[in-house]
Amino acid sequence: MGGYLRPGAVQDALEALDRRGLTIVSGGTDFYPARVGQPLDDDILDISGLAELRGITETDSHHVIGAITTWTDVIRASLPPYFDGLKLAAREVGGLQIQNAGTVCGNICNASPAADGVPPLLALDARVELSSRNGVRSLPLTEFIIGNRKTARRPDELVTGLTIPKPANPAMSGFLKLGARRYLVISIVMVAGVLERAPDGTVAAARLAVGSCSEVARRMLGLERVLAGRPIGPELGSAAMEEHVELLAPIDDVRGTAEYRQEAALTLVRRLLRALGSAP
Ligand SMILES: Cc1cc2nc3c(=O)[nH]c(=O)nc-3n(C[C@H](O)[C@H](O)[C@H](O)COP(=O)(O)OP(=O)(O)OC[C@H]3O[C@@H](n4cnc5c(N)ncnc54)[C@H](O)[C@@H]3O)c2cc1C
Repeated sequence: MGGYLRPGAVQDALEALDRRGLTIVSGGTDFYPARVGQPLDDDILDISGLAELRGITETDSHHVIGAITTWTDVIRASLPPYFDGLKLAAREVGGLQIQNAGTVCGNICNASPAADGVPPLLALDARVELSSRNGVRSLPLTEFIIGNRKTARRPDELVTGLTIPKPANPAMSGFLKLGARRYLVISIVMVAGVLERAPDGTVAAARLAVGSCSEVARRMLGLERVLAGRPIGPELGSAAMEEHVELLAPIDDVRGTAEYRQEAALTLVRRLLRALGSAP
C-alpha cells in the first residue's frame, strides 16, 4: 500500500512533488478504473482539496479553467458562446456522476485519443499551465499532449489550469460526437469548431479539431485556411473535402474501422460547419 497525501494549498502540493515521485489523482475517474484488480501501491497526491484551483476566472484577455474544475462546473458556468462546444462536450462525458467528479484537466492529462475535452480545447486555442517549485511554464495544448497517454508534463510539475484567449471577433462554437449509442459511450469520432465572424459577415478565423482518429486529436489547419474569408452560411459545410481529413490516421478497433472513422470524420466536419454557418 502506497502513501496518500491530500494538501489544501498549491504550494504544499508543489513541495511534495519536488521531494519525490507522486501519482497525481484529481477526480479519479480515469485513474481508479484503470487499476481495477491491481494492488494500489502508488504514492498518491490527491489534488481534490486545492480549492484555489476550482472554477473558471476571467481577465481582460482570457479565461482560466482551474485544475480541479469539473465537467459539471463547466456546464453550470456562465460563459460566452465560443465555449458552447466545450459545454456540449461536458454534457457527453460519461453520466452525471462522472461529470460531477471528473475534471477538464484530468481529461487532458490522461491524454486518451478519445478524450472528449481535447478537440473543443484545441478549437479554443487552449494553453496548459504547468507549475513546479521552480516556477510556471505555459504550453499550447498541441505541445502538451505528445502521444497516446503521453504528455510533456515533468514529474515535479502540476497542471494548475488551462488558459483560453478571448477571440478577436464575436465567435460561436460547436461539438459533435459519434458513438455506438446515444449516451455513456467512448467516442468513435468527435469534432469541435470555433468560427469567428468578421464585421462583413465572413469567417474572420476558423479553428476545427477532430478526435479519436489519430493518437492525438488534430487541428484541421488546411480546411481552416480555406474557410477564412468565406461568407458565413450553411454552404460552409461543402468547403470540407476528403483531402482535408487525409491528415487523420484512424485505427481499426472494436468501435469502428479506420475507413468508417475517416468517412465519419468528414461527415461530422461538414455537419458542424453547416450548423455553425446557419446559427443566427
Ligand atoms: C464510466 C465512465 C465514463 C466515462 N466517459 C467519458 C467520456 O464520455 N468522455 C471522456 O472523454 N472521458 C470519459 N471518461 C474518462 C474520465 O471521466 C475523464 O477523462 C475525466 O475528465 C478525467 O478527470 P479526473 O479528474 O477524474 O482524472 P483522474 O482520473 O484523477 O486523472 C487522470 C490522469 O490525469 C492525471 N492528472 C489529473 N489531474 C492532473 C493535474 N492537475 N496535473 C497533472 N496530472 C493530472 C492523473 O495523474 C491521471 O494520470 C469516463 C470515465 C468513466 C469511469
